[in-house]
Amino acid sequence: MTTEPIQFVDLKAQRQCIGASIDTAIRTVLEHGQYIMGPEVAALEKALKDYTGAGAVVSCSSGTDALLMSLMALGVGKGDAVICPDFTYTATPESIALLGATPILVDVDRKTYNVQSNLLDEAKSVAAAGGLRLRGTIAVDLFGRPADYETIVPWANENGLFVLADAAQSFGATKGGQSVGTFGTMTATSFFPAKPLGCYGDGGAIFTDDPELAAKLTSIRSHGKSQTGGKYDIDRIGLNGRLDTLQAAILLEKLGIYDNEKRRRQTLAQRFFNELNNAYCPPSDSGSLRSAWAQYTIQAPDGRRPELRSYLDDRGIPTAIYYPKPLHKQKAYKNFPKVLAEDPFSSALASSVLSLPIHPYLSDAQQLKIIEALNAFMLT
Ligand SMILES: *Cc1c(COP(=O)(O)O)cnc(C)c1O
Repeated sequence: MTTEPIQFVDLKAQRQCIGASIDTAIRTVLEHGQYIMGPEVAALEKALKDYTGAGAVVSCSSGTDALLMSLMALGVGKGDAVICPDFTYTATPESIALLGATPILVDVDRKTYNVQSNLLDEAKSVAAAGGLRLRGTIAVDLFGRPADYETIVPWANENGLFVLADAAQSFGATKGGQSVGTFGTMTATSFFPAKPLGCYGDGGAIFTDDPELAAKLTSIRSHGKSQTGGKYDIDRIGLNGRLDTLQAAILLEKLGIYDNEKRRRQTLAQRFFNELNNAYCPPSDSGSLRSAWAQYTIQAPDGRRPELRSYLDDRGIPTAIYYPKPLHKQKAYKNFPKVLAEDPFSSALASSVLSLPIHPYLSDAQQLKIIEALNAFMLT
């Protein structure tokens, strides 16, 4: 039996589903012509607030800017240190370093891919030893799985630190019935097209329960403009961090089908977990945690990833590697302080992880094909 070609992310299939309503939404914006901060931007912020239960939502130009603007609102700068995982996308440490602060790279857990919260105290000592003022931590919900907030948040509170959640991959995930966007001091997400909730370009949003931080963010998003003074009164250093009205209009339509898409990803993840050979360490939700499943990431048997990848490729199954190098091995980041196991898990993962297609438009036959190919490879 033949199946349709498998895409890693299938935005075309999604367009077949809601393309017409998105086109109408785009046309509405073209007709009213308010391309910057048009009515769809406020409507989206309200919808995201309702969806997550966060106190305030400030939309912005990208996930990277969401991180950067959050750290700016928190007043992070020179002489400060911020903890972040050693195994994450570059945008996480970049936002810290751009402000002249120092990222402290911490090893991750081999099973959850989240930062190891038992290393936080050591990271604090490393900051002190380096004469740096530790300000907080960026917890990354890697691959869509919320980080260990039940440990990280109390630890941060005890130490007078902030927790910024990098939820670029986890919009829509929940833990204990609570939504991503409500953990920690602030949450930054991304609407890059390939993220679980994506627009047709760059976009992002910041969530916080703190009205003062929300007001600062609104000002930072528009060049530090005063909230009370005139149009050309500038209160702080800001930037141009706005979300385009067109992207907001697109996101409003996509948010309408998001729960359906999320459930399909969750069902498929459960199927992978049940049916894939255990030697791949297939991840699953646990307890009250529900991942957004931005990626379904397995681990190849020792040293066999290149072989596995081409085996799958030969059978029409696309895969991706997130990420081939831990930060401490990147030229730009290798000199920052780090807290790693002697044999860092971040390094072991970088050489074994493989992400499988897990988009909501995979048919049953396509899912089966992926599972059968992976299980057959184990017998080769
Ligand atoms: C995608 C991503 C970002 C950056 O988001 P952009 O919208 O591409 O700027 C930040 N952190 C993580 C973990 C990401 O996956």
